[in-house]
Parts: sequence; C-alpha cells; structure tokens
Amino acid sequence: MKDLTACFVLIVALAPLVARGGAAEASGRLELLPIGNVQVSDGFWAPRIQVYREKTIPHSWSYMEWELRSLRKAVGEPVEGELNGTWGEANLYKFLETVAYSLAIRRDPELEQRVDGIVDLLRACQQPNGYLHVYVTNNRKPPWDPAFLDGSHDGYVLGHMIEAAIEYHAATGKRDFLDIACKAADEACNHFLGPNAPPGFCGHAELEMALVKLYRVTGNSRYLELSRAFVEWRGRGLVPPAGPTPRAYFQDGVPLRAQRTLDGHAVRAVFFATGVADLAIETGDSDYRLAAHRFWDSTTLRRMTITGSIGPRKEHEAFGEDYELPNDGYYESCGACGLVDFAHRLFLLERRSESIDVLERVLYNAVLHGIALDGVTTYYCNPLSDRDHLRDNCWVCCPPNLSRTLLQVGRYAYARTDRDLFVNLFVGGTVRVPFPSGELLLRVETDYPWDGEVNVRVEGTPAGRFALHLRKPGWSDGAELLLNGVARKVAPGDAGYWTFEREWKNGDSIRLNLEMPVQRMMAHPNVVACRRKVALQRGPLVYGFEGLDNGGKADVTLGTDPRFTAVHQPGLLGGVTAIRGVAARGEPIQAVPFFAMANRGSSTQEVWVEQENLTVTGEWWLGALYRPMREERLSDPRRAEDGHQE
Ligand SMILES: [Zn+2]
Repeated sequence: MKDLTACFVLIVALAPLVARGGAAEASGRLELLPIGNVQVSDGFWAPRIQVYREKTIPHSWSYMEWELRSLRKAVGEPVEGELNGTWGEANLYKFLETVAYSLAIRRDPELEQRVDGIVDLLRACQQPNGYLHVYVTNNRKPPWDPAFLDGSHDGYVLGHMIEAAIEYHAATGKRDFLDIACKAADEACNHFLGPNAPPGFCGHAELEMALVKLYRVTGNSRYLELSRAFVEWRGRGLVPPAGPTPRAYFQDGVPLRAQRTLDGHAVRAVFFATGVADLAIETGDSDYRLAAHRFWDSTTLRRMTITGSIGPRKEHEAFGEDYELPNDGYYESCGACGLVDFAHRLFLLERRSESIDVLERVLYNAVLHGIALDGVTTYYCNPLSDRDHLRDNCWVCCPPNLSRTLLQVGRYAYARTDRDLFVNLFVGGTVRVPFPSGELLLRVETDYPWDGEVNVRVEGTPAGRFALHLRKPGWSDGAELLLNGVARKVAPGDAGYWTFEREWKNGDSIRLNLEMPVQRMMAHPNVVACRRKVALQRGPLVYGFEGLDNGGKADVTLGTDPRFTAVHQPGLLGGVTAIRGVAARGEPIQAVPFFAMANRGSSTQEVWVEQENLTVTGEWWLGALYRPMREERLSDPRRAEDGHQE
C-alpha cells in the first residue's frame, strides 16, 4: 500500500517551486565535484578525515618502504631486505591516491615533496617503451607474460597507478605523474592493440575502469578502446589459467553477454563490473548497461550481507551461490571498497537513489568496519559473527584501499549537471558547485547518521535556477520537508529523490527531517544463516552485539517487545549512538554500530540475533534481500490465544 501511495504526486505546488517527476529526468552529463570543493565539518566525518590525514597516512609510510626498496632496486641501487610481490606496487599507488585526496582537502608542501620524489623514482624505473611494473623488471619476467596473465597483476598495478596519477594531478596541478601513467597506458595499448598484438587481459580487473577514467581526463579514445577490448576478450579462452583455479575466478568463464551473475574472486569481479558500468556510461552501449544491471542485481539482491560485504568464501576469496551469506564468511575489505565504486557508477549510469542506498550501506558499515577507530589497524575480513577476531593489519591490499575509499566521501556525496545538483549523502559542511551561471555555495548542517535532521542552505552569490535533488534514503519511511521554514508535501520522484527546482536566492533553505526508528531487519528466507534472526538497523547504520556489553554473550535472544531506545554516548567508541533494550528474558542489552565493533580488545560479536516467534515466508519480497520486520511477523502464542493472530 505504501508503494502505491508513493506513486501519486502529492505536491502543494506553489510557484516558483516546481517538483519534477524524478531525478532520472535531470538533463545533461553528470559531473562529480572536485574533492577540494567539499569541506567536511560535521561531527561524524570531519574527525574521521582528520584521523586518516594525521594518523593513517603517516602510519602507512612505514609499509611503503617495501615498495620503495623495490623501486630503488629497479634503478640499480644496492638495497637490502625483501622486495615486493607481484601485486605490491598497487599498494604504493593506492596509498598515493589516498595522499592525493588528502592534498585535495588541504595542500601540504612537505607531503607533496615526498610524493614528487617518488614520482622521480618512478620515471627512472619506467622502461623506454613505457612499461612500468618493477616486480616484473626486478625478477626478469616477461612483461604481460602470456603464460601468467591471470596471476601477474600487470594490469591491476597499472590501473591503480593511473588512478593515483589522475588524482595527484587533480589535487596539485602537477603533470609529471600523469605523464608517466599515460606513457605506461600507451605501452599497454601498443602491446594489446598494435599490429599482430596478442589478445588477452590481466586476470585481476582494475585497468578496465582506470582506462575509462584516463580517457575522461585525456580524451584519448585508445584508452577506451583498450578497456573495451579487455572486456570483450573475456570468456573466449584467450588467457590460460596458470593454476587450478576455474576461469570464472578471473571472470573468464563465458563471454560478457552470457554472464548472468557476478562470480569468482569477489574483488576481481566487482572491479570488472565497475569497468563494465564505466563502459556503459561512456559508450552508451546497451549490452554493457544490461550486463552492469545483471551484475548489480546478482550482487545486491542475492549476494551481499546486510553490512554491505561481498565474497563469503575463503576458497578463491569468492562469491558463493545466490543467498549463500554465512555470518562467519570471509568478506574482504577490498570487496566492500569495490562495491562502493560499483554502486557509484550505477548511480552515474541511472541516476537512481537505490544505487546510493547500497553505496551508503557499504560505506557506513562494511568499509568503516574495515579500519579501526585509531586509523592505523585494519581488518582484511569482516564477518558478521566473530569471536576474538583482533584486527590483523594485513598489508596485502586492503589498508590503502580503505583509506582511499573513505577520503572520497565528499565526492560520493554530490553530483551535478549544468542545472541539477544531487545531494546523495548527508555530510555536514560546505560545498562549492560550479554551475555555468556562477558558483553556488551550499552549507549543510547535520548530525547524520546519529540524527535524521539535515539543513541545507544556499549562501553567497545567487546561483540562479537549478534543481536540487535530495536523496530519499531507502531505509526511510517517514520524512518532513520544509522550504524556508514552511512545510511542503513533496513526494519523491520515481528515481527516489525529492526535487526542488526554483530560482534560488541567498539564504534559501531546506530542512529535511528523516524519522530514524530502530528497525529490526529480516533477511530473505533463502538466506539460511539468518533464519529466525533479525539484525538491528537505525538510519544507515547496522548494529551488532558485543559480548563485552552484554555479560560476555553476544548471541542475545530478542522477545516480542525489546523496548529499544537509541542513546547517544559521547564517551563510547569515539561517540556513538548505542541501542539499548531488553532481551527475551528481561536482561538489559546494548548494541553498537557494526563499524565500531572490535575496537575494545577481544570480544564476541553478532549482527544477526535470534528473534523469538519470528515467521518469515517467501511472499512479498519483491526482489529485496533485507526488509524491516513488521510486528505481524511475530506469531506470539499469547496473541494467538487472544484471537489476534494474523
Ligand atoms: Zn584486500
């Protein structure tokens, strides 16, 4: 019934306010804002960004020694100690991308000088033909080794180099790193697209999306052509597996148009899917668009945890079958980082809020969980049920992926066309939007995600007429909207945005009040691990129980009415809103946000907990994987006796 009422446009249409049918109608090309245009100053993200800039980056340098030693070895310097592995340089590049975002937020001459020194070293390492993968050079292996394309990581490393170089150029205006990356990309183009070139692709996807990004920056269509070739050559038996892993492990099982689900190594797979979505955005090819949607549905409707993680299987770090979502699964942090990017591309492709619903779920839960509150230790795996799982700080791949993802929160929050501004994430601070008619300054004040009130105010020079699209979060049932202090009844459009189009003046404001009740979430009944269980969610945050808050026992059992209340506790876990209530037998219980779990030493942890009398049937899921529990799902024996049972 609720869905039906949402179809009616319930507008009190008072000129000059115009509500349009949906954000999908927004015209013109979507552009992202430069990271530096978004200044974050709220109570949630600003302290975190400070930690990533002041703690995570200095801490990460110590791990770069391994990579820098490998670079120095490649230019003939005598070095001592272990050299990096085949994927190691990607860590250096992910870290440099993190640094670039930090510099975009605030320049730092000392930090820049350090990066410039590395760029000089990279230039010295680069082969005359442009090839640059020092692991291969140091170990005298053949570049793009045709016998080991699935494992050599040549393209994965190059992809991360390209992304870092683009962002360093964007942050500083310096071209040297970008020139090195272009030269290396040109070598890849010459290798795979030149006369008599052997078709193939790197078994760890990443270069596909990086080449599209490089095409956007340079306009060189050869990069787009190579990305397209890498996608098209898959599933045709062109890359021999070096080991016993199945071809699906590196997304080579069948050609793209025959791929129905996203399978194999979860990180490789989601990077590949992101590249396909990028190609759909740039080429408009409906085959890529359809494939991106198949991958999206396969992942988000059947293969994603409620915390936004993917890849439950330890063997091959892989996706499982549909609904195979064990709570003690593998769930690598890089998979979550990759899913944030895939969700972001789906938004750019379709301009629908449901993509951002997934992005928000992954970012505020799985990704934030991956990095400790202190910013220096990390998780490789992010299971939902855990015992004494201390942070492993494993520097194979995840730590710099987490920091580069989290420092992009300002980028994920907004998108614009020449006459539209999308507010996707509710992040407090200011944002400068370069409309053709002039720069708009927008101020956002909010205590999100702890509170659902979001105040958006236009400041400074009038920016003229444009449409402001405020995302209606998928988790939100009820909301109040006020324009310049006057309540407005505006229904969200089909794309899931509240749209306000008008001639905006200095001081105009919108207040959004999102109701933020504690919701007990159910999983689709096919998810065996979550049967007769619920998970708590409030706003975008998924919660979990830790033994140390609950008498040593994280696997609590909930009764019909757990009497949940949300209590903000400034002294707990850096300041979180905890959920307090009572268990089935009346003892007090407390849940904390999933992202903050495992920050207080050893402890048991459970996201999904037993719910007494819960009956979930297979009806009316309409493709959803998780839904709020309604009271009628509880078959309370006492209510049955009273004749009130459903
Ligand atoms: Zn990883």
